[in-house]
Amino acid sequence: MAGGLDPGAGICVRRERSTAIAAKSSSDSLPLKIFFHERRGSLFCESVSLASLAQAHQTPLYVYSASAIRAQVRAFETALAGVDHLTCYAVKASSNLALLKLVADAGCGFDIVSGGELYRVRKAGAGAAPIVYSGVGKSEREIAEALRAGVLQFNVESEAELRILDAVAARARRRARVALRVNPEVDARTHRYVATGLNTSKFGIPMRRARAAYALAQSLPHLEVVGVDCHIGSQLTMLAPLAEALARVRRLVVELRERGVNVRTVDVGGGLGIAYRTSDATPSLERYAEIIRQAFGDLGVRIILEPGRLFVGNAAVLLTRVLLTKQGAARRFCVVDAAMNDLLRPALYDAIHSIIPVIRSEKPTRRYDVVGPVCESADFLALGRDLPEPQPGDLLAIGGAGAYGFSMASNYNSRPRAAEVLVDGKRASLVRRRETYADLTRGE
Ligand SMILES: *Cc1c(COP(=O)(O)O)cnc(C)c1O
Repeated sequence: MAGGLDPGAGICVRRERSTAIAAKSSSDSLPLKIFFHERRGSLFCESVSLASLAQAHQTPLYVYSASAIRAQVRAFETALAGVDHLTCYAVKASSNLALLKLVADAGCGFDIVSGGELYRVRKAGAGAAPIVYSGVGKSEREIAEALRAGVLQFNVESEAELRILDAVAARARRRARVALRVNPEVDARTHRYVATGLNTSKFGIPMRRARAAYALAQSLPHLEVVGVDCHIGSQLTMLAPLAEALARVRRLVVELRERGVNVRTVDVGGGLGIAYRTSDATPSLERYAEIIRQAFGDLGVRIILEPGRLFVGNAAVLLTRVLLTKQGAARRFCVVDAAMNDLLRPALYDAIHSIIPVIRSEKPTRRYDVVGPVCESADFLALGRDLPEPQPGDLLAIGGAGAYGFSMASNYNSRPRAAEVLVDGKRASLVRRRETYADLTRGE
């Protein structure tokens, strides 16, 4: 449907009054459509009309469905039943305190990549949940904070980091539990900015140095080696590269054990892709679980999983209002009040998000580039999209905005960041107020 009005996976455009269908039991198909749906020509999130939310909280506005997130966690856990595992939600995908609380209540731990994320997890009241600390550059201050917080394990990405971690742990009179993130050097076949397992990637320790790095880790007195970690990339739409990577990790685990390294956990990272358009193929959760079972089922290790996007990606829309339309020399533009500072993914990853009018329109469609007010040519939300002729003030819903949406938002062009609303059934809670101009200059 290139260029067409693609309803996307996150939003269902059934025209008749929606019936409350139970979430599909098959985890193959994302059950999220039922949480964003149309009633009498108007889009709803669960039982709340998106137009009423835009009226109450203005735009741009992120709207999350709590039920969608819970359903997605449930589908994931169902697929992994029978695997000894720990699910640690990747906080960077979407890190509002209310979402972290929701995910912790659903039984998950957390994967963090900064001291700020550790602060958020604890602030959400989820500090007792297990935490793994990932990332290629942790400062001594961040390491000390994480040691004090008692994180379950540090995923270490270099020999240099092993030495720093050992030194900080010595000063704190603690032993740090570590897993080494190895780079299995497979092509995850995803966008180059989210592929992390290539041999040119800054992430992880090259497989051929892994044994030596483990020997170093074993020799450092303030470290306790507990596991192996990998993460080959994000928005994975096929599982073959992951299966290949995990087969290599398995060989490493077996070899390390032969050398007396007590490998108790294998962290398989995150990265499962979601459908941004109805036509997008997504990996099967059953198949994913099967690959993990095949690789590690007989080794008696505990599997750590770090899903981010999968839990929240299709659980939110970004609401925006049309400011005006304009005809350029070669293209027609629909200028809206959301921009790349609110949703960076189209500019950064060439991402394609569904865009649909919140109130159904029978107007003829025309082709538009949907752009924001920011002074950058990369400031677009969609290119060459057929939309029913938009009028100033019309509301549009941008689908699939839950992951790497608000969490990547900035104040570029001195634009206050959007508000966030969490809908749960009939209830809508403002979980982050819109920033004010005063927020923009705070600290200057
Ligand atoms: C970003 C990241 C994740 C989460 O990736 P998703 O594609 O959102 O599932 C998990 N682990 C690590 C180490 C990451 O950097």
